[in-house]
Amino acid sequence: MTNVTLDIHKFPCLNDNYGYLVHEAWSGQTAAIDTPDAEKYLSEADRMGWTISHILNTHWHPDHAGGNLRIKEHTGCTIYGPAGEAGKIPGIDVALSEGDTVELGRATAQILDVPGHTIGHIAYHLPEQATAFVGDAVFALGCGRVFEGTMDMMWNSLSKLKSLPPETLLYCAHEYTQANARFAVTVDPDNAALTDYARWIDERRAEGLPTVPTRLDKELATNPFLRADDPALQAAMGHAGDAVATFAEIRTRKDRF
Ligand code: ZN
Ligand code: FE
Repeated sequence: MTNVTLDIHKFPCLNDNYGYLVHEAWSGQTAAIDTPDAEKYLSEADRMGWTISHILNTHWHPDHAGGNLRIKEHTGCTIYGPAGEAGKIPGIDVALSEGDTVELGRATAQILDVPGHTIGHIAYHLPEQATAFVGDAVFALGCGRVFEGTMDMMWNSLSKLKSLPPETLLYCAHEYTQANARFAVTVDPDNAALTDYARWIDERRAEGLPTVPTRLDKELATNPFLRADDPALQAAMGHAGDAVATFAEIRTRKDRF
């Protein structure tokens, strides 16, 4: 078994997106995870001494795929994206869905279909690195708004992410954590792990520090959107025994919060 080294370079983009560049040292290949801002990605790659060889899109929204064509024009990279919305991914070369894999040098990403926020949204899971790039499917203490899919579909997608190994690092696409925490404590006020996490988030943000990536095990204990199958939370939301209705209730409250 070979030792695969991935360097993940994270940088802020637009108002509250994160940019990620993933570099595989053996091959020298570099993947851009989504493309909120082409110029920022190109200059950050330059600064690292890396050349973008892959774009891995999670979904079609412009703050995720808007920089595709400019980066491809500049680097000749290959663009991978969701098969379920391939027609809306600028410059797409390879359409991916559940069970497909993408190679970045010696590293392998497995594709998970996680629809709901958009109808074709995918996540990139690298099991050997215990890492997943989840776009707008799940956030630290939150999840994406359900724009194109149904509540049922989104809960299924979150359930799939819940079943990844608990040590998995979740690289979500936005720094929404502090606002998510303010909401989370209103639906799950007696959760001590959540209260501690919310305090840590306030400290980090007061210093201008990121809260992403987050670890799945921490989210499983605190993220109300991932806890819709928890009997106490179901009862508190008035939907005992019904995870989908509980999820829908929490999502709807957050939309109005
Ligand atoms: Zn989005
Ligand atoms: Fe987004």
